[in-house]
Amino acid sequence: MHVHSSESDGTDTPAGAVRAALDAGLDVIALTDHDTSAGWAEAEQAVRDHGRPGFRLVPGAELSCESSDGRGGTVTVHLLAYLFDPDSPALREEQLRLRAERRERLEQMARRMAGDGFPVDPEALMAGLPPDSPGGRPHLARALVEAGTVNSVTEAFDRYLGTHAPYYMPRADTPVHRAVRMIAEAGGTTVLAHPFAVSRGQTVTAEVITELAGHGLRGVEIDHPDHDEGTRRRLRELAAELGLVPTGGSDYHGTNKNIPIGSERTPEESLARLLDDCTGSKIIG
Ligand code: AMP
Ligand code: ZN
Ligand code: FE
Ligand code: FE
Repeated sequence: MHVHSSESDGTDTPAGAVRAALDAGLDVIALTDHDTSAGWAEAEQAVRDHGRPGFRLVPGAELSCESSDGRGGTVTVHLLAYLFDPDSPALREEQLRLRAERRERLEQMARRMAGDGFPVDPEALMAGLPPDSPGGRPHLARALVEAGTVNSVTEAFDRYLGTHAPYYMPRADTPVHRAVRMIAEAGGTTVLAHPFAVSRGQTVTAEVITELAGHGLRGVEIDHPDHDEGTRRRLRELAAELGLVPTGGSDYHGTNKNIPIGSERTPEESLARLLDDCTGSKIIG
């Protein structure tokens, strides 16, 4: 229920991600590229060409949002959105803005590194991305690996690109309440992605999740590679208390991360609760 393709910062094409899910024996894949639905058509075609009976594709996206952290500051949170109408005008406009902002910021980060003598070529980096695609830090991390500056994407984040690293730059993301509302108005549903993933920087408090639940948030991603056992337990209790649907996902990025597809799962019961009322798009398969 949380998979990235080369339409954002994964390394498998959308069709490749579908094939990887089939090869792993999964029943469902949700394609959730950052701030785009550009991979849906190719993934749908792959399901029609290669899908086995019962295999389903849930079209989705992962939206970059800004939220109060519950401690007086603001943080970036990610919202998994499913089965929304991608042609909803408000949503289209906001995603277009976000993608432009992502590309601008990625180029600036690359320029700053090049200016400091790192062997990255901002123009080549940007030229290597599909037009209007949501560039992200993993693209720059990969360029640093290819240039031999670091040995892995993870090392690039630790040393240069992570939230507290020297070349990190923030973005102007969508206010999270607005994003929840926009997706609901587009007939879809929302799940807060990896809310307590401390390795990514400051996270939100339980109070923030409670407040979002009161404003239309439908679920919370509990089983995620960046959540340890204690965190999962705490989140499971919170979800039960708030009536939020518990989900899981590998956050698969192909070879940009060392996490196999299907390493974390969503129970079938959660899937039904989450998706039954959606009207914006159809499940494929
Ligand atoms: P961006 O969207 O440009 O802010 O970059 C965020 C992306 O980088 C997300 O897809 C994360 O999964 C990935 N990411 C964040 N932190 C790390 C890390 N420490 N190592 C590898 N990938 C990361
Ligand atoms: Zn990503
Ligand atoms: Fe995320
Ligand atoms: Fe993700």
